[in-house]
Amino acid sequence: MIKKSSLIDGNEMFKKSYFKKHEKELLDLVEHGQNPSALFIGCADSRVVPNLITQTEPGDLFVLRNVGNFVAPYNPDEDYHSTAAGIEYAVTALEVSEIIICGHTHCGAIASLYSEIDEKPFIHTKKWLTLGNKAKALSILALGKTAPKEELLRLTEKLSVVSQIENLLTYPYVKQRLDEGSLHIHGWIYDMASGDIEYYDPDEYAFKSLSEVINDQ
Ligand code: ZN
Repeated sequence: MIKKSSLIDGNEMFKKSYFKKHEKELLDLVEHGQNPSALFIGCADSRVVPNLITQTEPGDLFVLRNVGNFVAPYNPDEDYHSTAAGIEYAVTALEVSEIIICGHTHCGAIASLYSEIDEKPFIHTKKWLTLGNKAKALSILALGKTAPKEELLRLTEKLSVVSQIENLLTYPYVKQRLDEGSLHIHGWIYDMASGDIEYYDPDEYAFKSLSEVINDQ
């Protein structure tokens, strides 16, 4: 478990090392504001750290993290919709050119779809997790109810990313910029056991290794 003192020591170390080393770039971002090229929607899971797994720097990614890397369908009537506000700001104000929805293996949110959740302590979680129901249903349809649990979970993690992309397309300003060709949407799965990332290829309805793309270049 992380100790309070280690967080304080960590910030001291950050100021003395990273901040000092990158002071020019960091102050440039303060002076001129941020101009990230990508919106990264990832899971809140502490093991999936966007800037770490993509080796990107402050200013590179506009990051939204929530339980399960879900995107609720567009609904302007809903109160306090944090993920939608982030998408709106990234697409409309920052004008990012890329949106990445990044799921991951061994996702607790996806695993929770297969167990009963007590509504009393988890009232918000229970409702939020319904955004994964379509992926669960499709996975059971594809593999069968009696398929090995781990196989079902890995497929549900992937199909959820596809399902969240579909939800993202219900946002009119996202759809408009996609149709104009000024915005691209990517579905990723981060493998926590290897560090590999797979991307969704909509033409083949399959996930492929990102390193294949690099090797093809
Ligand atoms: Zn997760």
